[in-house]
Amino acid sequence: MRQPIIAGNWKMNGSLESIRTLVSGLKDGIRDVNSAEMAVCPPAAYLAEVSSLITGTTIALGAQDLSNAASGAYTGEISGDMLNDFNCKYVIVGHSERRNIRGESDELVAEKFKAAQDAGLTPILCVGELLEEREDGITEAVCARQIDAVTDAYGVSVLENSIIAYEPVWAIGTGKTATPEQAQDVHAFIRGHIASQDQSVADGLRIQYGGSMNAGNAAELLAQPDIDGGLIGGASLKADDFLAIGRAAG
Ligand code: PEP
Repeated sequence: MRQPIIAGNWKMNGSLESIRTLVSGLKDGIRDVNSAEMAVCPPAAYLAEVSSLITGTTIALGAQDLSNAASGAYTGEISGDMLNDFNCKYVIVGHSERRNIRGESDELVAEKFKAAQDAGLTPILCVGELLEEREDGITEAVCARQIDAVTDAYGVSVLENSIIAYEPVWAIGTGKTATPEQAQDVHAFIRGHIASQDQSVADGLRIQYGGSMNAGNAAELLAQPDIDGGLIGGASLKADDFLAIGRAAG
């Protein structure tokens, strides 16, 4: 049985004041979330604050990115060990905004995935196709390529301590959600692709859907057999909406 995980990616939003209000709202409502694990991924500048605010709650902490290097002369970067100092459990790697806006390659994302695990963190590996790739019929090939960059370099067993987030890029921040069927088809493909290398890794792997998931569409998406949670952008910035998605997970 895979426990659903609902993670909020706050991106570069908020202020010290607004994140305090958001976390306070989450703490008020978290007891009504039954089966899902709930995690928040604040901007790096607020990790220390959020870490201390959620101490003693069931809310887990994640970061939005990390360096592929362990330490050294990498101005502006943050290592996995530094994230550990703030009790991060998760770190997002390969978000489409980093792949497509910051030009991160599959290889760099794979190195970040490994750096996260080397530091004892659980990477959330984001994969997903651009609109033109879907229209060209290469959605599955794109997702496979992004996953294979990790497994070819480090072996399929590294997926044991990880989460994959399938995020069709055309659905992120656009209000256009993949239909439950479209999402389930790709999730099933991803699980099957991994199963062809290791059935038990595939069976245990949590695969989140991300892309305009909200309080209104979450239940139907989360009811799909291969959708094990959500990676939530916009709707994670309002405590009520994020908690409603958590409750929709069952
Ligand atoms: C995301 O950024 O991972 C995401 C899914 O964003 P949104 O929910 O706003 O589409």
